[in-house]
Amino acid sequence: MARLELRDLHAQVAEGGEKILDGVNLEVRSGEIHALMGPNGSGKSTTAKVIAGHPAYEVTDGEVLVHLDEDEFEDIEIPEDMRTVNLLDLEPNERAALGVFLGFQYPAEIEGVTMVNFLRTALNAKLEEREEFFEDDEGDEEAAEDEDAGYDTSPMEGDVEEGEVGVAEFQEIMAEKMEQLDMDAQFAQRYLNAGFSGGEKKQNEVLQAAILEPSIAVLDEIDSGLDIDRLQDVSNGINALRDEQGAGILQITHYQRILDYVEPDHVHVMLDGKIAKSGGAELAHQLEDEGYDWVREEAYETA
Ligand code: ADP
Ligand code: MG
Ligand code: MG
Repeated sequence: MARLELRDLHAQVAEGGEKILDGVNLEVRSGEIHALMGPNGSGKSTTAKVIAGHPAYEVTDGEVLVHLDEDEFEDIEIPEDMRTVNLLDLEPNERAALGVFLGFQYPAEIEGVTMVNFLRTALNAKLEEREEFFEDDEGDEEAAEDEDAGYDTSPMEGDVEEGEVGVAEFQEIMAEKMEQLDMDAQFAQRYLNAGFSGGEKKQNEVLQAAILEPSIAVLDEIDSGLDIDRLQDVSNGINALRDEQGAGILQITHYQRILDYVEPDHVHVMLDGKIAKSGGAELAHQLEDEGYDWVREEAYETA
């Protein structure tokens, strides 16, 4: 069980720019689906980018905490003093290694890398980063002693290193996840960045999440520009992240439409850089019918 906690988060555009987040408080646990809604420009994407460690933003106050159980990861026992971590102190790849998925980061231009190779590399990099993060110093000393004693501790070329997912095993994992998303099998062999449509990029993002098996996934506007068939496929994928992998989902969306397929346990409305109102799934329907103005009036009446 993991919990992502935004605590009084304040952020501005880097180098003294515009203030955007004005004290965001939000908690997402494994197994829960939260929808973060709100009008354009209210700070939803900035919230996601700050969680991801995007360099365009500067956090001026508050924390982004991840709370982990000792047995959060099958293969690693988490020491007591590392079960609560402030993501803001970590590099983006460390954040991912701790089980927080923050959207598909396309490397700008890589020639000749297929999707299947790219995703296997991403999974293995995450597993390695995670092991390093929680590694105790004893392990390091043992490896250093082995080196002194003349043992070869470096991996052989072409070998699958211990703890890595090999090619054949990975192909099976990927085929299964792709089927879940109703993706064409030949997709695995397509080259990264080779003319993916908007919809394919979104499917890709959910596929990557399914493969990396995050504890908490933050998905920003995963529904924008999808036709109804793709919306259903992507929604099935998101539901599977929660139902089959137990992930918590923070689904950022401007529109209620996807929430017909991915039913949220909690709905939050962001206005002017903070959460102005939270409720259950019914709140999303009310917003669809009545817009955001009433939330604004209510929020400023009580302020
Ligand atoms: P949302 O996703 O809710 O539509 P954003 O988080 O993208 O809103 O943006 C919130 C506000 O901050 C907007 O007014 C936007 O113009 C501004 N903003 C976001 N990022 C930047 C940036 N890098 N530089 C300047 N202004 C920004
Ligand atoms: Mg946005
Ligand atoms: Mg504070």
